[in-house]
Amino acid sequence: PLEARAVSAWFGERKVLDRVSLHMPAGSVTALIGPSGCGKSTFLRILNRMHELVPGATLAGEVLLDGADIYHHDRRLTEVRRRIGMVFQKPNPFPAMSIYENVTAGLKLTATRISRGDRDDLVEQCLTKAGLWNEVHDRLRQPGSALSGGQQQRLCIARALAVRPQVLLMDEPCSALDPTSTRRVEETIRELAAEVTIVIVTHNMQQAQRVSEHCAFFLAEQNTPGHIVEQGLTQRMFHRPRDPRTEDYVNGRF
Ligand code: ATP
Ligand code: MG
Repeated sequence: PLEARAVSAWFGERKVLDRVSLHMPAGSVTALIGPSGCGKSTFLRILNRMHELVPGATLAGEVLLDGADIYHHDRRLTEVRRRIGMVFQKPNPFPAMSIYENVTAGLKLTATRISRGDRDDLVEQCLTKAGLWNEVHDRLRQPGSALSGGQQQRLCIARALAVRPQVLLMDEPCSALDPTSTRRVEETIRELAAEVTIVIVTHNMQQAQRVSEHCAFFLAEQNTPGHIVEQGLTQRMFHRPRDPRTEDYVNGRF
């Protein structure tokens, strides 16, 4: 499991997250919901140490992966990022690389050496898990940029899987996709959930209910820093919200 304990975040002097604590169980999907600007993407970046790449960004609190703090001084950054992958809003395959090379690109970064045959097997395995193999197996040497948006997003998921992450963070992975591609990516997420812990940010309330078991509602009220108003099982939160602000939000009233 992945666990955030009392995570606060600042950009310069400005505090944008206030003591966010969230347990993201293994083998399930956790959805982060809430209005624009409440700190969902910032929180996601803190979960794989990308927040520290932003100049002037600081944080407090702990992020535990299987009980060990990913911010501990003797943790290696490359190892943290290998174990906790990220998929972005806009599909971003490497445009100059083939479909095949896109999937294997992460192996170079993590200095994983494998034979040609094993690499072929890994590419097939990751594309299959990402739900893309049937569509691309006969054109692996074509550029990734030749695929449709939804296919590119599944290619990015395959690329993230190639380094065998324990956790996959997804920031609005379907917001640039058409409804059919969105359904394909949602199916992929559900199939992956058994083996990879998934945290997904979404503005789509139906999607949150379709893909996640757990849910956290973030809010930044009147320029106060973002915090979690309510968290719990997705079905419970949507059907029996405890906080009136959650009820309003999940019913599209703000
Ligand atoms: P959205 O739903 O629109 O994607 P969000 O919930 O992901 O919003 P964040 O992008 O995490 O929100 O932003 C949270 C707050 O932090 C916002 O007030 C934003 O202006 C601020 N912020 C985000 N990135 C930076 C940055 N690089 N420098 C300064 N402030 C930032
Ligand atoms: Mg965001």
